[in-house]
Parts: sequence; C-alpha cells; structure tokens
Amino acid sequence: MAQNSVVVVGSINMDLVARTDRMPAPGETILGTSFSTSPGGKGSNQAVAAAKAGADVVFVGAVGDDTFALELRQALVDAEVDAERLREVPGPSGVAAITVDADGQNAIVVVPGANSRIVDLTDEELTAIADADVLLCQLEIPLDTVTAAARHAAAHDTVVILNPSPAQPLPDDLVDTVDVLVVNETEERQLGENTLARVPHVVTTLGADGARYRGPDGERIRVDAPAVEAIDTTGAGDAFTGALAVAWHRGPQDALAVACAAGALATTRPGAAAASPTRTEIDALVA
Ligand code: ADP
Repeated sequence: MAQNSVVVVGSINMDLVARTDRMPAPGETILGTSFSTSPGGKGSNQAVAAAKAGADVVFVGAVGDDTFALELRQALVDAEVDAERLREVPGPSGVAAITVDADGQNAIVVVPGANSRIVDLTDEELTAIADADVLLCQLEIPLDTVTAAARHAAAHDTVVILNPSPAQPLPDDLVDTVDVLVVNETEERQLGENTLARVPHVVTTLGADGARYRGPDGERIRVDAPAVEAIDTTGAGDAFTGALAVAWHRGPQDALAVACAAGALATTRPGAAAASPTRTEIDALVA
C-alpha cells in the first residue's frame, strides 16, 4: 500500500553520552567509563523513523556551523530523509549532554543551539508543507514556528500530527489546527482535558500496554503492543510516532497497529533513531 509523504519541522541534536559509575556531585570531577555520540532530537528521530517505515520524508530544521553539523546532516541522508531543507546557521548545533550512571539513571542538559534559530519559514519550506500528506511536529523548536507550520498545513489540507513534547501549554491557534495529538500518559495529564477535547484525534501511548485512541465522535480503540523482549525503551515513542504518521491514512485501527509494532521493535535494540524498524520488519510483525 502507498505510504503517506511526511514533512517533519523539528529539532536535530547531537547526543553526547558519558557513562559513569555514579553521578558527579556539584563541583566534583569524576572519571567516566565510556563516551559516545549519536544523532538525536525528536524531530530528527521521528523523521528517520518515518523514512525507515517507508515514507518519503522531508526534514525542515537547522544545524549550526560546528563539526557536529556534517554528521547530523549525514544521519538524515543515510536514512534516506530529504535533507535539502536542513538549514545551516551560525553558532552551535543543538546538543544534549547526557550522563548515565551504573543504575541507568540519567541527567540530561539540552542546549537547543541552532534549533532555536528556526523562526521564519521560507517559501520552499512552506511549499514542502503544503505538498506533503502529513506535517509532523514536536515542541523542541520555537512554538511560534510550530504554530506557523501547522496553520500553513491546515490551510493546504496537510494532516497535522503533533507530539507535544516537552509538554507545555499550547496556544489556541496551534490547538485549533492539530488533527492528531500523540501523547504518552504523562503528557496527556499535563495537557489536560480541555486541550485534548479540542483535538479530533488523540493517540495515547501506554508503554508495554500498547496505545489507545479517541476519535472525533468519542469512538475508542485499544491496541495491544506485540510482546517483545524489551532491552532499551529509548526512542520507542519516536519510532511509534514516525510510523503512525506514515500509516495514518489507513485509519486509526491499522495506523495504531503499525505504530505499536514499530514502538515494540524499537525497544528490542539499543539507541534511539538507530533502533527504529524498517517497513519490512513492521509488516512482518503486524501481519
Ligand atoms: P514514551 O517513551 O514516549 O513515553 P511509551 O513508553 O508509551 O512512549 O512507548 C511508545 C510505544 O512503544 C508504546 O505505545 C508501545 O507501542 C511501544 N513500547 C514501549 N515499551 C514497550 C514494551 N516494553 N513492549 C512492547 N512495546 C513497547
């Protein structure tokens, strides 16, 4: 079956991960046990997940003029995401400095860098939004940009899917353009019933329990996640959301089944974007 074409307007970061036996105290220097870098950011992760799930994906976002920029762009290209609309702006790329201790606890500092510089959408970017089947956004770039993208999409019959993370109060002119909200249970609570009630389709992820859906006439669907041996749930939500965007045109029941399969498969592998499954893998689990 043909897949939706997707444009993601969102964040792209370099994750800098230091592993230590324990968290350093303020003012303390300790030795770490390992260090690695990997491309991240919810926008980039969901774009990669959607492309791996089989869609034509355009990414609109920004990297800086530092050494991370090349690697971040290449990660999109390697996943066959169209990165022609990835801007390069002066200053640092977005980074997430992540410390993980021996218990798997983490402490994270995100510095948005170039992600905070996407303020006015260009004509080419707006055209990409108008031409796509689905606009997929998160909240790691300026809220005004997300709102402008969503309004343009709504005016051109592009379906607007919003993953409102990190959760924050949403302006009315954004809420009124959103077709589908994808939230976890924490985000659902934080947004509150008043906001949720104004969006036609709400998809709530439930971790190992799968996901539920509430439609415009109050109809409800529950889809179980396939049973898998989960080893790392990082990126499960992004794999879910990317796949949901790709399969949305198949209707909520099928789209949730595809998304749950993608989320479950992502938990069976380490990492974020790297863990998201291919269309073949998803189809094999859904069939
Ligand atoms: P988030 O990480 O954003 O809080 P969830 O933990 O709800 O999101 O996970 C997103 C999706 O990933 C779930 O809806 C489910 O489909 C899948 N998933 C997550 N954890 C598991 C698990 N242990 N087993 C199977 N599927 C899972």
